[in-house]
Amino acid sequence: MSRRGPRLVLLGKQGAGKGTQATRLAEHYEVAHLSTGDLFRDAANRGHELGIEAKSFMDRGELVPDETVLGLVEEQLAVGDRARHGFVLDGFPRTRRQAEELRQILDGHPLDLAIDLDVPTEIVLHRIAGRRVCSQCGALYHVDHPPKQNWTCDVCGAKVVQRDDDTEESVMRRLELYEIETLPVIQFYRRAATLVHVDGGLESDEVFKSLVETVTSKFDPAKP
Ligand code: ADP
Repeated sequence: MSRRGPRLVLLGKQGAGKGTQATRLAEHYEVAHLSTGDLFRDAANRGHELGIEAKSFMDRGELVPDETVLGLVEEQLAVGDRARHGFVLDGFPRTRRQAEELRQILDGHPLDLAIDLDVPTEIVLHRIAGRRVCSQCGALYHVDHPPKQNWTCDVCGAKVVQRDDDTEESVMRRLELYEIETLPVIQFYRRAATLVHVDGGLESDEVFKSLVETVTSKFDPAKP
């Protein structure tokens, strides 16, 4: 049997760097990167019913209903038996119910680690205000670190834009929902002893280094 990769959940406030770090971790460990936000945005761009439904919640900074998110995640984890081979979940679970259901979905293949990427609110507000994203592939940029050519994506060449939900009003609502709905998820993993904290306030390469050190020291590929 081939060695499996880690099964990880990345938690943290909006703008904590989950998207950037999850992409790098998934490449490093050769596992799937599943971002529920990216999956919804992609479905909306393609005009799919699921995406259109999700977009009405996303643009207001509200959470997409649990049923919708859970259906999507279960389907994505079944592709290529990702639930067994490993994954980095980014933006999910975001409610206590999602965390409980994920445990059921993973039946027999428990999470290796839930990582809380800790960043102070002043820093995330600055990061979100300057955040820009590729309209096609979701690659992330910042006004302080733009793409090489005239706001076209370095990866796929499409237009780099500000997200529709990165308005001040939506961001404040998302941060409020983070406190109400997502802090209990952190508690849930603390009790299950799967939680670790990593300082996400440092420079991006430093954060990545400490994430890899943490995962490598705790992950045991021999576990089923
Ligand atoms: P951010 O972390 O900055 O809010 P994401 O791309 O992770 O960005 O999510 C964008 C939006 O997508 C959320 O505000 C929410 O509407 C929706 N969403 C993403 N993941 C979930 C989830 N697990 N549960 C409910 N809604 C979600």
